Amino acid sequence: MTRLIFLGPPGAGKGTQALRLAELSQIPHISTGEILRDCVSQKTLLGQQAQGYMERGELVPDELILEMVRERLLQSDAQNGWILDGFPRNATQATFLDLLLQKLDQSSYRVINLDVPDPILVERMLNRGRKDDTEETIRRRLEVYREQTAPLIDYYSEQQLLVSVDGNQSMESVTAALKQVMES
Ligand code: AMP
Repeated sequence: MTRLIFLGPPGAGKGTQALRLAELSQIPHISTGEILRDCVSQKTLLGQQAQGYMERGELVPDELILEMVRERLLQSDAQNGWILDGFPRNATQATFLDLLLQKLDQSSYRVINLDVPDPILVERMLNRGRKDDTEETIRRRLEVYREQTAPLIDYYSEQQLLVSVDGNQSMESVTAALKQVMES
């Protein structure tokens, strides 16, 4: 059973790699950023509430995110495995996920840290041209990552769930390294 959490800074290639692996394993790729962007473009209430935070590069408040993730993980396609991309992003979300997965009897999972140096991250984000990829927002997203998300590297590494993969290689090499992790 494949259950993977992708950690790593914005621009590390989490989305691309998570999608590739999910397709290979035929399990859902659950990207909270993507779900939120869909909500914004469909102008749902959640989308309207989340939009400002996303445009500023801030985290959307937990009370909006946690229920969204719970509902997604309860769907039937997620019972055979999943790849989480962009969640958890802070300690509260990680604790919530631990409890939820215990309840669902899905406590076996691994966490992948995609490692990429900062200058490369900025360059990659500027090149992908997403609406929230302006220089100012990118700077804020990196700060938020360092303050709130990076501490989860220690949290998962203390539980021996963390595997670090060098994300500063060609897309194909990163995928190959990740496949090895999945098979090990
Ligand atoms: P991403 O596509 O993962 O880079 O996410 C894009 C934006 O969506 C982030 O900058 C946040 O504003 C928001 N977002 C995505 N996932 C989360 C999360 N787990 N918690 C809070 N905000 C999130």
